[in-house]
Amino acid sequence: MNMVNMKSRVAHYPGCHFVSRISEVNLGYYENTYYTKEDGYRLCKCCDPMARRLNDRDEEMLDFCRERAISYKVENGELMITTPFSDWKAYPGEGSRYILYHRNTRGNTKCYHLQTDRYSDVMKMLEYIDDHDRYRLDNPLPKPKKVKAAPKNGTKRYRAAERRNKEKKRRQEIRNVLNLIDSLALI
Ligand SMILES: [Zn+2]
Repeated sequence: MNMVNMKSRVAHYPGCHFVSRISEVNLGYYENTYYTKEDGYRLCKCCDPMARRLNDRDEEMLDFCRERAISYKVENGELMITTPFSDWKAYPGEGSRYILYHRNTRGNTKCYHLQTDRYSDVMKMLEYIDDHDRYRLDNPLPKPKKVKAAPKNGTKRYRAAERRNKEKKRRQEIRNVLNLIDSLALI
């Protein structure tokens, strides 16, 4: 159970020193330990394990990201990173590690998948993300295959398809006759 300020819609873990500052009329309880935008609550920066981890890293992160058209946001325990190619979500992992999820925004897949939990420094992780994009730039994902529509009556493609079908039918007929002769010969 967590405490929420019902007026500011900010949620806190029990024991957060900000809880004592919430006036009694605004103090509420929240059963979930996860806060999403849909819930309308935001986790307090002081309680947020990701915000605490990245507390003093903003400047170098901004410097790195600005040059590469990367944007990021720390909210509700996650670090959301958006690049021109993909979306990333990082969560605090074991020790000082990060658990990093990825999804391409220009491919067929729209779901996040686990990418790595190798990095224990946020800058190393950002470099990895940037390298990943660079690789994608050189090796684009295959475009989804388009299914050809049936040819329209009267077009060149239609006549060609007609010819192919006729030829197929003719060959099948010849095969049928040959099979018939074969079966008669056996009698
Ligand atoms: Zn708090």
